[in-house]
Amino acid sequence: MHSVIPDYLIEALADVAADVSGAPADYIPELATADPDCLGAVFATVDGTIYGAGDVDTEFTIQSISKPFAYALALSDRGFRPVLAKVGVEPSGEAFNEISLEHDTGRPRNPMINAGAITTPSLTGTPGLDPAARVARVIDGLSAFAGRQLSVDDAVCRSEMEHAYRNLAIANMLRSHDILTEDPHAVVDGYVRQCSVLVTARDLGMMAATLANGGVNPLSGERVVDEQVVRQVLSVMATCGMYDAAGDWATQVGIPAKSGVAGGLIGALPGQLGIATFSPRLDVHGNSVRGVALFERFSSDAGLHVMEVPPSAPSVVRSNRVDGTASHSVRVIQLQGGIRFAGAERIVREVAETVFPETIVALDLTMVYSLDDVARRMILEVARRLTLDGHDVHLVDPESLIPDPDPGEGGRIIVVTDLQEVLRPSPQGAPGVASGEVPHDRADVGSVAIGEESVG
Ligand code: GLN
Repeated sequence: MHSVIPDYLIEALADVAADVSGAPADYIPELATADPDCLGAVFATVDGTIYGAGDVDTEFTIQSISKPFAYALALSDRGFRPVLAKVGVEPSGEAFNEISLEHDTGRPRNPMINAGAITTPSLTGTPGLDPAARVARVIDGLSAFAGRQLSVDDAVCRSEMEHAYRNLAIANMLRSHDILTEDPHAVVDGYVRQCSVLVTARDLGMMAATLANGGVNPLSGERVVDEQVVRQVLSVMATCGMYDAAGDWATQVGIPAKSGVAGGLIGALPGQLGIATFSPRLDVHGNSVRGVALFERFSSDAGLHVMEVPPSAPSVVRSNRVDGTASHSVRVIQLQGGIRFAGAERIVREVAETVFPETIVALDLTMVYSLDDVARRMILEVARRLTLDGHDVHLVDPESLIPDPDPGEGGRIIVVTDLQEVLRPSPQGAPGVASGEVPHDRADVGSVAIGEESVG
């Protein structure tokens, strides 16, 4: 069968192709030479599948789409506190190049407008790094997000530097407030080099997918930044990524996003996919006209708004049944899917509301693909309370979703990899109780018998 997604992307591009409104950026003269008709779109899944249509391998400069990634690198290199001390996280509702800083502190309002984005690269790498090494750190970091080595378009870089009066004004203001401590000209030069990094829509799709995938590049497998950093970056993209169009974007599209004046646009949908579009004509905000139209369409067609999440909790208890033999009956609670707080609450309720005589209980995680921290703790607490109620609790956990389970005071869990081990215990062992198990007073390490070895 031929996949439906490339066909869908081709159809979406055809729908927006006729819109020739807007114009390529010309305040950077070299950008005005771009082919305004270029049009491409990419979907990149968090497991590394890339779907594309149109001009997905045409190179253009990343421009402001570098901002969230440079911010991620700064947070990763220096930690949150030093970065937040210099760059805020409040939406400014202003144009990207507004010459504005917070009145009292001189801090730029957020890292997505130029004032913030000129500051963040100075917070990458180690303090005191020379300007060339700092730029290299940023370009290598962007490359890790993309999964290939990226390079700079010198012509665009030179062209922007020749007209960088506004950004130099911003940098000088930042220097006067000691937000920047280095030479403003060198800082702007580094920032402009970062903006002149060449990418394709395919690269941007992978970079967005790396954010959607919690900071791990889906193809290279490299962890580029950690999950807390990604959460911070996506939050700032969601509130500030589209400048003075951020409110319209948040309500109508609802995907954390970032645009660039060369015509690129990315969106990262946590846990699902990265999206990238390329079309150089811009609207009054400096966002790609057809890129915005494509994202509006993708969001409504594919239900991608972050605030529109279907309930998953009702399906986490796949079955609650009695299994085994008459003389060895087992209460099996079979769970499934991705379990977070609401799903775990559903499990707690299911177990609390079931009155059952079976001594042996199996919590079967075979069909569960993910558990977050709170779900893990709640399932362990269910196990502990069942133990206190006199049950022998088995955890069927072939994928080690709960590694080294510690059921806490009074709890005891026998871990097995297959439900059959619970239903048909070895004749040597006491029914349903794995031998080799130790009393719960050694629960921190010892009370958990793992897998085959422990049975019989
Ligand atoms: N290099 C550009 C600038 O600073 C980036 C702006 C953008 O893409 N919005 O003006």
